[in-house]
Amino acid sequence: MTVQRESICILGATGSIGTNTLDVIRRHPERYRVFALTANQNIDLLFKQCVEFEPEYAVLTSSEHAESLQIRLAEHNVSSKVLVGDEQLAWVASHDHVDTVMAAIVGAAGLLPTLAAVKAAKKVLLANKEALVMSGAIFMQAVKESGATLLPIDSEHNAIFQCLPEHFVARGIQSCGIHNIVLTGSGGPFLTKPLAEFSVISPDEACAHPNWTMGRKISVDSATMMNKGLELIEACWLFDVQPQQIEVVLHPQSIIHSMVRYQDGSVLAQMGNPDMRTPIAHALAFPERISAGVEPLDFMQISQLTFEQPSYERYPCLKLAKEAMEQGGNTPARLNAANEVAVAAFLDEKINFDQIAVVIQQTLTETVYAEVIDLDSVLDADKQARDRAQHIVDGFAAN
Ligand code: NAD
Ligand code: MG
Repeated sequence: MTVQRESICILGATGSIGTNTLDVIRRHPERYRVFALTANQNIDLLFKQCVEFEPEYAVLTSSEHAESLQIRLAEHNVSSKVLVGDEQLAWVASHDHVDTVMAAIVGAAGLLPTLAAVKAAKKVLLANKEALVMSGAIFMQAVKESGATLLPIDSEHNAIFQCLPEHFVARGIQSCGIHNIVLTGSGGPFLTKPLAEFSVISPDEACAHPNWTMGRKISVDSATMMNKGLELIEACWLFDVQPQQIEVVLHPQSIIHSMVRYQDGSVLAQMGNPDMRTPIAHALAFPERISAGVEPLDFMQISQLTFEQPSYERYPCLKLAKEAMEQGGNTPARLNAANEVAVAAFLDEKINFDQIAVVIQQTLTETVYAEVIDLDSVLDADKQARDRAQHIVDGFAAN
C-alpha cells in the first residue's frame, strides 16, 4: 500500500525559515513532498530548490525574475511551472493539492497568502508573526470559521504550545489552572552595550545575533526587542490571553524557549538548542515527533541559565508593542507598519538604530486609531502608518 505523502507549500522558501523547513523535509522524503515554493528575489536559490525538490509550482513577485527562472528550469528539464504575483501566491497557498502551508514570508507581504491558506482550511505553520500582529482578530476568526489548523513556528510560541494542555484555547486559561505565560528572549546583541553607543550601531552589528541566524529584518527586531513585543501580541492572539498574563523575561542563553506557569506552582519549560528546525519539525509532524537534525542538548556544556528583567529604557520598542496590544483596534497594525519602515530605513543607513523607536512612536501619535472591522480596515491602517513613517524617516534622513 502506498501512503499519501503530505503535500507542502512554502511561502518564503528562500529565507531562513524556508531553507530550514526544506532541510527538515529533505530528511523525511517518505512523509513530505513539496507542492510549491515561493520567493521574492533570490532566483538562484529558488532555482536550486526547484531542481532538488521538483515542486509543481514556483512563485515569484516579478515577471522578469519569473521568466528567467522558467528558462533556467526548462534548460535543466525541471517541470516546475513558474507563476508570478500576489494572486498566484494566494492561489498556490489555497490549492486543493496542498495539505500544509509554511507561512514564512517576512512582514506584511505575507498577510494575504497566509490568510488564503487559513480560509482554505489548510494546516498552517505560522512563522510570519507580522500577519497575525496586523490582523489578529480577523485572522483568528478566519481560523475558527474555516477549521484550519494553526501551529506556531516562532520558537517561543511553539514552546508555549508544547507546555500547554490539549485543547487549551477552547478550555481557556482559568479552567486549565494556568497562572501566566513566561515569554523568554535573549535580549539580542546589545544586552550590555552602553546606551550612549546606541546611535552608532551599524546594520551588520544589529544583525549579528548571539544565538540565532535569521533574516535581517527579524534580526534587527531582536536587537530592539520589537521582536519580543510582536511576539507578545502574537501570543495574545494564538493563546487567547491578555498582555498582563504574559511576563517577558530575558534569558540570554536561549536554551529555554518559553514557559507556562501553573497555579499549583509548577512551571513547564521547553528547552533545546537554539535551532529553528526543532519547532519546524514539531509543527510539521504534530502530533507525532520526527528527527530534525538538531544536536541534542548537552547539559554538561551549559554552564548556566540566567534570567533578568528587560529594561524599557534599553528596549523602548518592547514597551510600545505592549501598549499597542493594550490599546487594541488598529494600533498593532500601525505599530507593525511603522516598524517595517523604520527597520528598512535603518538597514539602508537612513536612520540610526535608536531612531527606530522614535519613528514608531511618532507614527503612532500622528496616525488615527480605529476599530478593526474587516480586512480593509487593517490594510488602511497599514498604509496610513507606512506613509506617515516614511515621511518621518525622510525628515530624519534629510538632517
Ligand atoms: P528572511 O528574510 O530570511 O526570508 C523571507 C522570505 O520571504 C524569503 O523567501 C523572501 O524571498 C520572501 N519575501 C520577502 N519579501 C517578500 C515579498 N514582498 N513578497 C513575497 N515574498 C517575500 O526571513 P526569515 O528570517 O526566514 O523570517 C520569515 C518570517 O518568519 C518572519 O516573519 C519572521 O519574523 C519569522 N520568524 C523567523 C525566525 C528565524 O529564525 N528566522 C524565527 C521566528 C519567526
Ligand atoms: Mg521568536
